[in-house]
Amino acid sequence: AEQKLSGQTALVTGASSGIGAGVARALGQAGANVVVNYVSNADEAEAIAAEIRQQGVEAVAIRADVSQEHQVQAMFRQAVEQFGTIDILVNNAGLQRDAPFHDMTLQQWQTVIDVNLTGQFLCAREAIREFLRRGPRPEVSRATGKIICMSSVHELIPWAGHVNYASSKGAIKMLMQSLAQEYGDRQIRVNSICPGAIQTPINTAAWSTPQALNSLMTLIPYNRIGQPGDVGKLAVFLASDDSDYITGASIFIDGGMTVFEGFATGG
Ligand code: NAD
Repeated sequence: AEQKLSGQTALVTGASSGIGAGVARALGQAGANVVVNYVSNADEAEAIAAEIRQQGVEAVAIRADVSQEHQVQAMFRQAVEQFGTIDILVNNAGLQRDAPFHDMTLQQWQTVIDVNLTGQFLCAREAIREFLRRGPRPEVSRATGKIICMSSVHELIPWAGHVNYASSKGAIKMLMQSLAQEYGDRQIRVNSICPGAIQTPINTAAWSTPQALNSLMTLIPYNRIGQPGDVGKLAVFLASDDSDYITGASIFIDGGMTVFEGFATGG
């Protein structure tokens, strides 16, 4: 296996399941040490960390609710104590609280904004503070630090019944791009991954019956659901020097969902 991330440490939030777990595995395979952040499932997080250690790198599971400032700060302190620094942050943790807009409670709105947006703010801030404290490490990477935000096709495609979620992802686009603008001169790269439909626990209803999967396929020109491993490969690329001239970009990984297949027959 290629070891493009040897000597670097990555912190992946929400890494005990789904895309985060796939990204954590892929970064470990590429030679990075990995912090597997989780909020509730300690057993799964420990199992993923153990699996990553099999690759011959270090990995540790750390509990923190990304929406809680003190927990995020404690997690970064522990990670830096253990590994010396953080080179790569993958801001992946996210959730949905769906409701028709006229029935949406303030709590449903707030929970999604707290985790999906404020969580990415808190983790990005701690990562950038660490990058600035530590300065360049030309022996491991041309960039001083790399942040990858897990956005969604819903930073572009409006989503009825999920207004809180779509709002959080639209905001991530500007968080990401403004950070890329503010810290580019310090050689910090910030990019977003925008997945379409990836088979994970967040969207079980969309793929767990043949009818649901068929209906999903009408949205996906490439005609298959994505896997966490698909996203893992993109995360390795964005974390490595292979993407050294990419910053401020939203990269869609969606089997063509954003070419709006409905228009193939609709016009
Ligand atoms: P998932 O539910 O398996 O993963 C989300 C993870 O975030 C879970 O492990 C969960 O425990 C964790 N999490 C939730 N709240 C947290 C908190 N407060 N602190 C720390 N961790 C927390 O679903 P997934 O599909 O793997 O989602 C990962 C990311 O990908 C999310 O940001 C989601 O919006 C995004 N995404 C997913 C898809 C998809 O089709 N699956 C598409 C576009 C974007």
